[in-house]
Amino acid sequence: MSQQMRQRRGQPLFILNEDTERTRGKDAQSSNITAGKAVAESVRTTLGPRGMDKMLVSDSGDVVITNDGATILQKMDIEHPAAQMIVEVAETQEEEVGDGTTTASVLAGQLLAQAEDLVEDDIHPTTIVEGYREAARLALEAIDEVTLTDELDDELLAAVAETSMTGKGTGDIDAAALAETIVAAVQQVRSDDGVDRDAITIRTQRGAGASATELVQGVISEEEPLNDDMPTRVDDASVAVLDLDLEVREAEIDAEYDITNVDQLNAAIEAEEAELRGYAESIAGADVDVAFVTGDVDDLVASYLAKEGVLAFDSVDDDEASSIARATGARTVGTLNDFEADDLGHAEVVRVESFGDDDLAFIEGGAAAETVTVFARGGTEHVADELERALEDALDVVTAALDAGGVVPGAGATEVAISDHIRTSVASVQGRKQLAIEAYADAIDVLPRTLAENTGMDPIDALVELRSVHDAEGRAGLISQGQSGDVGDPVEYGILDPAAVKREAVESATEAATMIARIDDVISAE
Ligand code: ADP
Ligand code: MG
Repeated sequence: MSQQMRQRRGQPLFILNEDTERTRGKDAQSSNITAGKAVAESVRTTLGPRGMDKMLVSDSGDVVITNDGATILQKMDIEHPAAQMIVEVAETQEEEVGDGTTTASVLAGQLLAQAEDLVEDDIHPTTIVEGYREAARLALEAIDEVTLTDELDDELLAAVAETSMTGKGTGDIDAAALAETIVAAVQQVRSDDGVDRDAITIRTQRGAGASATELVQGVISEEEPLNDDMPTRVDDASVAVLDLDLEVREAEIDAEYDITNVDQLNAAIEAEEAELRGYAESIAGADVDVAFVTGDVDDLVASYLAKEGVLAFDSVDDDEASSIARATGARTVGTLNDFEADDLGHAEVVRVESFGDDDLAFIEGGAAAETVTVFARGGTEHVADELERALEDALDVVTAALDAGGVVPGAGATEVAISDHIRTSVASVQGRKQLAIEAYADAIDVLPRTLAENTGMDPIDALVELRSVHDAEGRAGLISQGQSGDVGDPVEYGILDPAAVKREAVESATEAATMIARIDDVISAE
């Protein structure tokens, strides 16, 4: 409880509930800023190719090892409302562009740190907010200026994919090979309307090393065939997607408990069997070769289907079922009553393969839509999971480069250009706002500075050299190679990020920082 509240105790008029906690003015500001900064600080060491990983352990002992900013912030149990806003920055970044989560949260944290200094120097929060907004506008201008004009060919796209994966645990496979697979996947589902991101699925399977990653021309389902006697490979397959249960309906079982003699019992059993056989017959009768059922399937139905030579799966995940329907052109059917040949889809092959203890079904060459699955293998569950996150990032950056405005130089070069542009433009700004704009440029510097730190370079020396090479050559980044780093042109080294990642980071970090800086009163119910 704050000092002010204590002093007011005993006064007869309470507007707020007695248990309400309230902090105001500079107290509120500094506690919010501290919390926001602390969260951003927690992901700082993961930035860049030589960033470190975090091991996150949940209440129940589940372990996640990751380098991914969004994942780290999501899994941390963050309660402070201002800190929570930094988590939202990472989440927005993840949703909008799929990469740059660490960049965005580190920038938000540094904008808050600079705001704290400005507040101490008696600069009013509204002046800070105005200055930050003006600086963000200049930053977007700079991003446009450094966006490459080169054609986005496969080689360039692979470089973008690879840049997003460096430093992530991609197991024993080098990022270059994965990047090629990712670009191939994107090119297959790309049309004049852009990249159909939903047509690409990533499926990881532990077992083999990560080098077994491949591009599958279709969908992979995690389910096993219902019965060992079913075929494990069907070529030229008619495919049904059934959103129903194939069991005796509960209500009927209840009704039949009213049984007084053996004949009635046999009759009841026969009626049940007839119903179950009926399901199998209407499926086989419609010339179905392979059935994907989202609900449960009675063992008896499964064995009838096996006898008819039908390959069937139950409990198929809804997303999987809709991908299969989409790829094969099957209509998802909710009842067998008016089930007909028209509802069936088609695939060149459906085959079941065993991977250790797990069976996977591959539905390849679907007749209706181009769908691809990046089938990634990792030695252990943790490797497979981190590989999946790396591949998701790579898919997202290639998509963003193609659909959302091209690529910019990575390795801190865009950030160096941004702060340079802000500092050059600020001279024309009058008054205290100028200080806030300059502070924004200083905040941007935290990104190349952190890259330098994480690469083991002296951050001050690195920044000085970056600026002078930028002035001389127009482009300068911190190229990380092996154990150390060098100042050079990231474009020459193929280190490229989507422009959209940088734009989104500037926008969401600025929004969160200005929102937090403006708060001068925190009223929280207990
Ligand atoms: P984020 O969550 O922000 O994407 P990352 O850890 O993925 O964080 O780091 C991204 C940054 O690392 C980008 O600025 C990118 O340009 C940079 N980067 C990637 N590869 C290299 C490299 N080989 N040398 C220097 N910087 C690199
Ligand atoms: Mg990244």
